Amino acid sequence: MPKQLMQHKSATQRTISIEQEVHDIKIYRPKKMTDYKRILVTAALPYANGPVHIGHMAGVYVPADIYVRYQRARKRDIKFVCGSDEHGVPITIRAMKEGVTPQQIVDKYHAQIKESFEQMGISFDIYSRTSNKVHHQTASAFFKKLYDDGLFEEKETEQYYDEKTKTFLADRYIIGTCPVCANPNAYGDQCEKCGSSLSPEQLINPRSALSDAVPVKKKTKHWYFPLQDYESWLTEWIIEEHKEWKNNVYGQCKSWLDKGLQSRAMTRDSNWGIKVPLPDAEGKVLYVWFDAPIGYISATKELTDKWADYWCKEDTKLVHFIGKDNIVFHCIIFPAMLKAHGDFILPDNVPANEFLNIEGDKVSTSRNWAVWVPDYIKDFPGCEDVLRYVLCANAPETKDNDFTWKDFQDRNNNELASIFGNFVNRTWVLMHKLCNSKVPKLHEDILDDEDRWIMKEIESSKLKVESLIEEYKFRDALFEVIDLSRKGNQYMQKKEPWIKAKKITDDRPQSTAAQKEIDNCLHLCLQLTANLAILVNPFLPNTAKKMLYMMKVVDKMLDWENAGKLKLLSVGYSLRPPEILFRKIEDEEIKMQIEKLKSGLIKKDEPKMEEPKPMNEKQETKKPEIVYDDFAKLDLRVGTVTTCEKVEKADKLLKLTIDLGTETRTIVSGIALHYTAEEMVGKQVVVVVNLAPRKMKGIESQGMILTAEDKDGKLHLLKPEEVVSPGSSVS
Ligand SMILES: [Zn+2]
Repeated sequence: MPKQLMQHKSATQRTISIEQEVHDIKIYRPKKMTDYKRILVTAALPYANGPVHIGHMAGVYVPADIYVRYQRARKRDIKFVCGSDEHGVPITIRAMKEGVTPQQIVDKYHAQIKESFEQMGISFDIYSRTSNKVHHQTASAFFKKLYDDGLFEEKETEQYYDEKTKTFLADRYIIGTCPVCANPNAYGDQCEKCGSSLSPEQLINPRSALSDAVPVKKKTKHWYFPLQDYESWLTEWIIEEHKEWKNNVYGQCKSWLDKGLQSRAMTRDSNWGIKVPLPDAEGKVLYVWFDAPIGYISATKELTDKWADYWCKEDTKLVHFIGKDNIVFHCIIFPAMLKAHGDFILPDNVPANEFLNIEGDKVSTSRNWAVWVPDYIKDFPGCEDVLRYVLCANAPETKDNDFTWKDFQDRNNNELASIFGNFVNRTWVLMHKLCNSKVPKLHEDILDDEDRWIMKEIESSKLKVESLIEEYKFRDALFEVIDLSRKGNQYMQKKEPWIKAKKITDDRPQSTAAQKEIDNCLHLCLQLTANLAILVNPFLPNTAKKMLYMMKVVDKMLDWENAGKLKLLSVGYSLRPPEILFRKIEDEEIKMQIEKLKSGLIKKDEPKMEEPKPMNEKQETKKPEIVYDDFAKLDLRVGTVTTCEKVEKADKLLKLTIDLGTETRTIVSGIALHYTAEEMVGKQVVVVVNLAPRKMKGIESQGMILTAEDKDGKLHLLKPEEVVSPGSSVS
């Protein structure tokens, strides 16, 4: 590859410097909307094993819906598809635990999730489900095509198996004692108590989460998709051709590609899911991450006979809205599958969001640390737009963000009610009082600088909002809308029509002049309100509807082409009385929500075990705040490793002898995959000295050494910057 000649600053602004020969250099530019004839928007398929919470809404569904409503208002040919993801191991396990069939589980949650989306105004063209027949056929045919083309590798491996329930066990479903902190309920992939990432082999006394049986290893055959064969193509396609993708998405893709890709099994041992369409595949189904994204294709098939236009034509813009835990599946695995298949287009963009935390802590369904959408709708009836507003204004577009109930209240009371709602209400009240409940005339002969300023602001708002939405910057776009209403308030404050009204006396010329000024102010405020309705419609559709009702105009006024226009409401047209757009949210309501969250009062019928979709990206767990006294209980000291050896029959454990100045300790540590015994000798390490001793593989470990785990799961020793005398205390 020749020296890089292009540096992108952003999709719209970049510098190109030609430094040397250009003959073999491809210069990519992101496609523009004018390159496309139609748009297909997909939103991540929620897993049908629980209700949706506001983190899902903020990350995926609210932004996707804003984008789609805006494009519809622009009269673009757009389809918006989604559905429930109803396959995968967690659903079968849930069913086993509740003593019902997997179908009963998915039926229950599919209906509940669908209803939540409808109530929140998420305007899918179709909300389907992956247990539908059309999806089974589509996904089977997709798999069969790749199989017939000889693209899968067939491999036999050994996997953990529960003989009691006759089930192969994912790492998550093996439980045992953590070798690091002795937590008796650590999972086979991670200990939630100390945060160590583990493998089932490391657990002491492993047992099946389903039956308590001791898991055994059993041979099984699966079909692997060789992702490494697509690595160079993916690198070209993402790293070179899609520099305009969001930094968080681009960065995560780059890190996956830099690490190198490997074959991934696309089948699983299970009876719940899409049967592998091969003769020798009894008891095997498609991997849930193979079938779920194909669900987008199936849903489009169900929606329209012209589905192939949306999936197979290059002039369709395909956009996947997802959360950050799904980036690898939508940017690497699914595109590689689509490329391998050959009939389908690839996504133009995957504007994934980061996570929304709640009150400073990560959302956890097992700890019930979440705000559930069905609960919100029950507690705040008629306030669906307020939640959409807060989740967009606070969206985790570039980094994890925090939802707090106090911020929710502030944004409602201080932004929606006091700025936007107040402007519309004042305009309506004054128009009824001072202009006979009709749209007053605009007297062009007396327009002043302030009038011209607000007219210009109205005219320029359209372009600002639309270019931000096209770039998936929904927060900024929403701020522009609120800002326009703020300017409306400023304008009215300067004009003071209520003061001018006092000048109206019997003295005709003076009264006429005052009335003309009042007319101009309210005429422009009314046109501004009509503009606000158009601009806010993608974000807050119920609010836009209420405004239409007050203006007595038809839905067509909300067409995007009307934004920026100054003659939307005709002179002399009589308008309805004002309605309150946003009620105030009281301290009491907020206090109750915080208490409800903290006391875990929200009742939900979920088992206590965390059931993530298998093979999701690992998520960081943040621990609760502690006071200094808690920290001071730890006795941390620097020690020097004097001898080190591998622990027999334990892949990950090293046995170290550590000189702590006044004493010598034996410590067993799970770092063998990251450091060899030889390289440990002579190294200084930080030791937790007053940790209760515990036995690992028959050896008593008298303390613990500290390591940092990076996002790839690699461990790095913590050590002093310079060599210090053994026994030095750490604080
Ligand atoms: Zn642990």
